[in-house]
Amino acid sequence: ADFPQQPTALLTGAASERGIGRATAHRLGREGWAVAVLDLDAEASAEVAHEVAEQHGVATLGLGVDISDEQQVDRAVARVDAELPQLVGVVNNAGISSPTPFTEVGTEEWKRVFDVNVHGTFFVTRAAVRIFRRRSLGRIVNVSSASAERGGGVYGRAAYSGSKAALLGLAKTWARELGEYGITANSVAPGSIDTDIMGGRLSDERKEFLLQELPVGRVGTVDDVAGAIHYLLGRDGGYLTGVTLDVNGGSHIH
Ligand code: NAD
Repeated sequence: ADFPQQPTALLTGAASERGIGRATAHRLGREGWAVAVLDLDAEASAEVAHEVAEQHGVATLGLGVDISDEQQVDRAVARVDAELPQLVGVVNNAGISSPTPFTEVGTEEWKRVFDVNVHGTFFVTRAAVRIFRRRSLGRIVNVSSASAERGGGVYGRAAYSGSKAALLGLAKTWARELGEYGITANSVAPGSIDTDIMGGRLSDERKEFLLQELPVGRVGTVDDVAGAIHYLLGRDGGYLTGVTLDVNGGSHIH
């Protein structure tokens, strides 16, 4: 199907101040995409939507949604469909981390991580795919993590790594199953990106240590990830499906 003049992208977890989602919302807005922001905090979501509309002159919508709640997701996606131009992209960016070692992690923490990172992604994607199928066009991007590929990261442990690995498998399965509907599905696997997800828990010494091992020689930025997501979502991304883009500065080469 033809790529519309004015496509809409739906981004989860795009409200946090210094996060990957917000930077991606701006990047897409700058490139002419209408943008829907779904995040826990309704006020912050509306604020980001307002900011993107004002700076880039595109249609936006910001909604307070807990993506682990199926009904909230279905209602929000229906609103996006009704109020914004043709939905073409979904970016499964909302996620929570878990620093707890496997021998100590409790059931509650384990389930919450999977509820948000995996089940939330399932709910959002399922609702979006119903809409994509009407026009035989859709792009899905899962925001996974280098932690999924290398067995835990700088910070995330088993629950986080496992949930992010699930996203890689899901994107590949969607790539196979949904290709016939004009839908592509890919992942980005960022390395260490300077955001607030680690709650400032990365010490300067640890940062220094990590940089020594890094071929690109600097910590990643949210714009590094936003650019990769934009590529996968956009017109030029149509022949990539089932792919994982490692946006990690070479920290993990495999
Ligand atoms: P962030 O904490 O700044 O952003 C995550 C956002 O998700 C927040 O705005 C939060 O409110 C939202 N969110 C959390 N639970 C939600 C829920 N149930 N429903 C709706 N929204 C919810 O973190 P970030 O670093 O920008 O991370 C974005 C994504 O990138 C995450 O999936 C993260 O795992 C992934 N990632 C980050 C890094 C990194 O180094 N920062 C590395 C690899 C992957």
